[in-house]
Amino acid sequence: MIRREVSLSYELAPGWLAPHVDGLLQGRAVARGCGTCGRVSFPPERHCGCAAPAPHWITLEGWAEVVFRTDGLDGSFALVSFAGSSTKSVVRLVLDSATGRFGTLVAPTDGQPALLLALNGKGASDDTH
Ligand SMILES: [Zn+2]
Repeated sequence: MIRREVSLSYELAPGWLAPHVDGLLQGRAVARGCGTCGRVSFPPERHCGCAAPAPHWITLEGWAEVVFRTDGLDGSFALVSFAGSSTKSVVRLVLDSATGRFGTLVAPTDGQPALLLALNGKGASDDTH
C-alpha cells in the first residue's frame, strides 16, 4: 500500500444557500420553510417534497436538543433537533467536555461556515424551553 498526503484548496459559492450560510457565520439558525406543507428544514432541503412548494427563509431560535452524541479523538459530534425544525442536524460540539441535552448554535471563530453547538450543561430536569 502506498500512502500519499493530498492537499486540496477550493471555494464553494453558497448559491441558493446564501441566507443559510450567512446565518451560520453569524451564529443564527436560518432554515428553509415551506408555506404550502409547513415543513421546516435545517439545514435547508432543496425540495420539501410537496407538489407546490412555497419556500421562504425562517430564523429559528437557535437552540437544539441532543438526540445522540458521540465523542472521539477528533472531537464530539451530535445528532440534534433544532427548535422549530422538522428535520435533524449533525453538529460539532464546541466544548467536548460539556454535558447536557440542550445547546445553542454559535458562530465559528475561523470565519468558515459550520454547524457548531455549545451545550449549556442543562439536563432534562432543568428544561426551561
Ligand atoms: Zn412544501
